[in-house]
Amino acid sequence: MSERGVVDVMILGAGPVGLSAAYYAGHRDASVRIVESLEQIGGQVAATYPEKHVYDVAGHPKILGQKLVELCADQGLQYGAEVCLGEEAKLYERVSQDGEELIALTTDKGSRHLARTLIITAGHGAFEPRKLGVEDVDAWEGRGLHYFVREKAQLAGKRCVIVGGGDSALDWTLGLQDTAALPITLVHRRDRFRALETSVSEARKLEQEGAVRILTPHEIRGIHGNGRVEAVTIENTASGELEEHPCDALITLLGFVSHLGAIAEWNIELEGKRQIRVDPKTCETSEPRVFAAGDVAGYDGKITLITIGMGEAAIAANNAVAQIRGEKVQPKYSTD
Ligand SMILES: Cc1cc2nc3c(=O)[nH]c(=O)nc-3n(C[C@H](O)[C@H](O)[C@H](O)COP(=O)(O)OP(=O)(O)OC[C@H]3O[C@@H](n4cnc5c(N)ncnc54)[C@H](O)[C@@H]3O)c2cc1C
Repeated sequence: MSERGVVDVMILGAGPVGLSAAYYAGHRDASVRIVESLEQIGGQVAATYPEKHVYDVAGHPKILGQKLVELCADQGLQYGAEVCLGEEAKLYERVSQDGEELIALTTDKGSRHLARTLIITAGHGAFEPRKLGVEDVDAWEGRGLHYFVREKAQLAGKRCVIVGGGDSALDWTLGLQDTAALPITLVHRRDRFRALETSVSEARKLEQEGAVRILTPHEIRGIHGNGRVEAVTIENTASGELEEHPCDALITLLGFVSHLGAIAEWNIELEGKRQIRVDPKTCETSEPRVFAAGDVAGYDGKITLITIGMGEAAIAANNAVAQIRGEKVQPKYSTD
């Protein structure tokens, strides 16, 4: 297990609310670390609606989800918060070190993170990619099976099969045209795509030019290869016909699922089954120096909106800092 140094404020979850909490804590000169299960920041906004417009966040009459989280990151990380991606917090403990009582979170990567206070901004829980229902699918991760496209260059000249019917699947079918071997095969289990119509029309045009092969309604039934993905079995679900298709990169873009998971076992009082109970005046939970904000924080009359979560982030971060310093909670204006 690797032990990470002590920070003033640890934030669990890098959604819009976690990033806001990082801003408010950083603005008060607190040291901050964010732990996030996904390999990307932005929470639900980046994972489920990056290409949709949001109209109700103060100061933004209309903004794309992805743009909003990029701005939240610019703002939230400006004081140098450390960001640990791809780590799901599993275990919560209180430990003693040099006479100080600290909060320790252990993640699935075997890191133990220590902090004086914790702000849980975990939304609906840790996100993970929705997986294909084929046998031993996990064995192919890192061996040609991808849930994200991180670097296009990794896919240069590769025979790609993309699975999905939403914006991400269509965006990458178009976006990899200048990188992957052509045609790129796009597999979707329904005849109709959910993605933007303009992207679907563009893909249909490329299909006529031989640069894309669109298979609907089709599903992946098997993955094969000697240590790495070399082929997939694809079923035409209308006719039942099976086809073995050569493939170096299988990119499944099927959205994400979330689960409160281990957090529900941490002996922190819950509000219903999916939220942590907080006192809305401080956003503190039943555990001292543990706060919660955003969708995961529950109290009577709670509304789960980004704006509300950002307000709670300000309350939680200011209370966390005040507790560490033994001060009265006071706002500090950011204007200079
Ligand atoms: C389709 C859709 C449209 C929406 N439209 C609007 C809208 O127009 N306006 C609006 O205000 N709101 C909207 N919302 C709601 C809004 O997205 C949420 O209120 C907001 O994302 C909550 O932010 P958050 O930071 O609290 O949580 P999230 O965005 O859910 O982020 C939580 C993060 O914590 C991480 N995490 C959780 N558990 C762990 C763990 N154990 N270890 C490590 N990381 C963990 C998750 O992976 C996730 O990235 C919409 C939601 C959806 C699904």
